Amino acid sequence: MKKALITGITGQDGFFLSKQLLEKGYEVHGLVRNDSRQCLGSLRCLPRELSDELSLHKCDITDHETVMVILKDEQFDEIYHLSAQSFVGHSFDQPRITNNTNIGGTQNVVDAIRLFYPHTKLYFAATSELFGRAVESPQNENTPFYPRSPYGISKLAGYWIVKNNREGYGLWGVNGILFNHESELRGEKFVTRKITKSIASIVTGAQDELRIGNLNIKRDWGFSGDYVDAMWRMLQHDIPDDYVIATGENYSLREFTERAFKVVDVDIVWEGEGVNEVGRDASTGRVLVRVDPEFFRPAENECVLGDCTKARKVLGWKPTLGFDRLIERMVKADLKFMKKTSYV
Ligand code: NAP
Repeated sequence: MKKALITGITGQDGFFLSKQLLEKGYEVHGLVRNDSRQCLGSLRCLPRELSDELSLHKCDITDHETVMVILKDEQFDEIYHLSAQSFVGHSFDQPRITNNTNIGGTQNVVDAIRLFYPHTKLYFAATSELFGRAVESPQNENTPFYPRSPYGISKLAGYWIVKNNREGYGLWGVNGILFNHESELRGEKFVTRKITKSIASIVTGAQDELRIGNLNIKRDWGFSGDYVDAMWRMLQHDIPDDYVIATGENYSLREFTERAFKVVDVDIVWEGEGVNEVGRDASTGRVLVRVDPEFFRPAENECVLGDCTKARKVLGWKPTLGFDRLIERMVKADLKFMKKTSYV
């Protein structure tokens, strides 16, 4: 039986990855900052028979000593290093916490692997935010990096820590350069989930309108459940390498919003420009979406599009859930949450 550790197991990807690994028969361990039930985040959605199988270790990833002790005591075949201050918006306000977590935490994991169990295969959660103000489109593994946020900068350092240790010390480590991926378990501060949750609140009368930032940004959005499968495939390959994981299609935030409202049979018509733009319900004229400069970022990646040809060829990976089905899944789950029925 293979033994895997997931750091960041309480997050969105932690849920889908732990579920997949447990179903594959892995012994799955996870790092959690706090093991009280209300702090287990997405893990609370795991079916009981699976969550009972998990071994959780209390550890802040910035705590060098505890990371060392856990990795010394438990020798893992695979480590999926997902823990991060993952919200780009917060990284502008909290660059030091972002660096300590994303750079320091990654260094801790790499140091412990090198010192105690160099056979471990390491997955590092890199990101399309490395490309930032992308110099070409679509972006692949050879596209130069130009991060535009403290988050992107911290993840670029993590990328180089893994690559440098791979080249210099034989670390079996890969960088998964994953483009945006979503699900009904996406953190509520992230814009896609904010949209789907707001729609559920509007429909049930708990909220009047959705306030949102730059509607023109374009993202390449996939499904978290597909992307964790790519992580696993990277670690099953013989040679450690870096891979872009993306759908190869991008849509604006305006299109995401329109299609999400469509799930509840509302057609949005847009009016005005820039900060004065609003989205109205076409049949009633009621304003349901309002642009709010509070949500604009100091620096923004306008257009993000990934080319995952390498992953398709080498790993045999491809996305299974398209844009419309992903949005439908999220809106319907939020409506269900809103109506206080249980998840899955
Ligand atoms: P997420 O839902 O925000 O989860 C982040 C996880 O990191 C949570 O489990 C969180 O634990 C943990 N964490 C944060 N600070 C920590 C610390 N100091 N010590 C220990 N754990 C800490 O993120 P996700 O969407 O699952 O993404 C997983 C990884 O992929 C992240 O590294 C993210 O940056 C990266 N990524 C995500 C995307 C995407 O679109 N989702 C795209 C590219 C890359 P708590 O529950 O205690 O807060």
